Parts: sequence; C-alpha cells; structure tokens
Amino acid sequence: MRHHVVVVCLTSDPDTSIREKEGFFAAMTRRNPPPVSLLLPLLAVATTSLAQDFDFFYFVLQWPGSYCDTAKSCCYPTSGKPAADFGIHGLWPNYNDGSYPSNCDPNNPYDASKVRDLLSTMRQKWPTLACPSSDGTQFWTHEWEKHGTCSESVLDQHGYFQAALKLKKQVDVLQILQDAGIQPDGGDYSLKSIVSAISDAIGYTPWIECNNDEAGNSQLYQVYLCVDTSAAKLIECPVLPRKRCGSEIEFPSF
Ligand code: 5GP
Ligand code: 5GP
Repeated sequence: MRHHVVVVCLTSDPDTSIREKEGFFAAMTRRNPPPVSLLLPLLAVATTSLAQDFDFFYFVLQWPGSYCDTAKSCCYPTSGKPAADFGIHGLWPNYNDGSYPSNCDPNNPYDASKVRDLLSTMRQKWPTLACPSSDGTQFWTHEWEKHGTCSESVLDQHGYFQAALKLKKQVDVLQILQDAGIQPDGGDYSLKSIVSAISDAIGYTPWIECNNDEAGNSQLYQVYLCVDTSAAKLIECPVLPRKRCGSEIEFPSF
C-alpha cells in the first residue's frame, strides 16, 4: 500500500497565508488550540504515512554456479572463489502491484565505514561475481543505492545490510534443497520439486528465476523470498516477478 500524507483543514479561517508560512499544525494550534486527543491521532497517521513507502521486500539469492555458467561467464571476487552456496543478490523494496522504487536518495551514498563490522561476513555471504574482479564494494554500492535507499525510512545502511545477512542465516536454501535430494550436481530437477522443497521447509512459496547456460539450457539462477517491511519476517509473496523457468531445470555445480 502506498501511503500519502493528507492534510485536512479543520478551521474555517480564511487567512490561509498563516498556514502556508507557519505550517498547518503550528498555525492551527496557535490560533485555536485543539484538544491533544484530536492532534495525537493525526500525528500518528502522518508519522506512519512517512514511515515507509513500499509494501514488502524481495530477498534475492543467487546460485554462483548459474551466474558463472553462462556465455558471459564470471569473475571471482578478489578475496577468492566464494563458497559453493547461494549468495545474497539483494534485498529489494517492492510494491504490491509489481512495480518498485529505485535510486531513492542520492544524498545517502554507500559508505563502507557504516558497515565495517559486517564487511567480512558480506564478503562471504554477499560475494560479487561480476567482471572484472573486485572486492564487492561496487556490488554493495549498487544494491544500497538502487534498492537500499528506498527502504531507508525503515533501515539505515547498517540495518539494511545486517537485515539481509540475518535473512541469509535464517534460511539455508542449499541445505533445504540437499535435504530433499536436490544437489548442485549438474543434474536436471523439476521446478515443482524445487519449489515444494523450499515451501515445505519455510512455509512460504519461493519464486525461482532461471537463466540459460551456454548451450541454452534453463538453470536455477535465483531464489526470491518475500519479507515484510521490517525485513525480519518471511511472508507469502504479494506478487511474483515475471520471468519463468522450464519445467525441468539444471542445478549446475560450482
Ligand atoms: P532483470 O531485468 O535482470 O530481471 O533485473 C535487473 C535488475 O532490476 C535486478 O537486479 C533488480 O535490481 C531490478 N529488479 C528486477 N525485477 C525487480 C523486481 O521485481 N523488484 C525489484 N525491487 N527490483 C527488480
Ligand atoms: P541489478 O541487476 O541488481 O540491478 O544489478 C546488479 C549490478 O551489480 C550489475 O551492475 C552487476 O554488474 C553488478 N554485480 C556485481 N556483482 C554481481 C553479482 O554477483 N551478481 C549480480 N547479479 N550482479 C552483480
């Protein structure tokens, strides 16, 4: 739900210039002090309306084997080959209608000093695979500036990266798949079995995104989980991204 602050004029005073100069609440309280019981609910509405302007998050995990197993290939981060595990791609604020905000605050650039205590975990759990090799700063900068700035009313920079790392810890997608006999062994698995394994384990339906290997085979690329606006609780996805997979998809090794 998108919230908008609606200012309702409760006075019949024709001198609106005071309201413009002083602001609505100041002018109203100065001329005609209302009971606190009337103002508090109004302030509460204004505060929650400003609190957040998105409906939920996609928490997106990428399988490194599938990022690398494409015609474009990949580059390992400067810290070395990442673990054979799903890595974080991003935590993306979204609207229930499928659209999403992006690049919401150019005045709040990524600042590594704000996440210093998280950097070594970010290197492990949020590794970059784009070329040329880098230490991850570019990836995290992109994710914070494109997506993170759109949830900054709920999570500051430290909170944003910490929330994503907590979610990663909370849901071990690789373990869940392996427990269901679905291994990153280059074999083909039904999309249905992958979705069911994750749904059965976490109680919510994931969205699976595929990409194609060099031969054009559909493979398990990203797992989308939906999360509430506090970025702490998994929820059922209000809307699903459009891209689809074949009914049988490859799970490449890494
Ligand atoms: P692609 O076009 O490769 O699917 O997505 C490119 C980028 O657009 C993603 O990495 C992500 O930053 C953004 N994006 C794509 N789909 C969605 C979506 O449904 N929600 C949000 N919040 N961002 C998306
Ligand atoms: P998005 O698709 O999220 O809008 O954009 C991802 C950006 O981050 C792209 O510019 C991409 O080159 C860069 N990037 C760096 N490392 C990675 C990675 O490991 N995975 C993905 N999907 N993008 C990465």
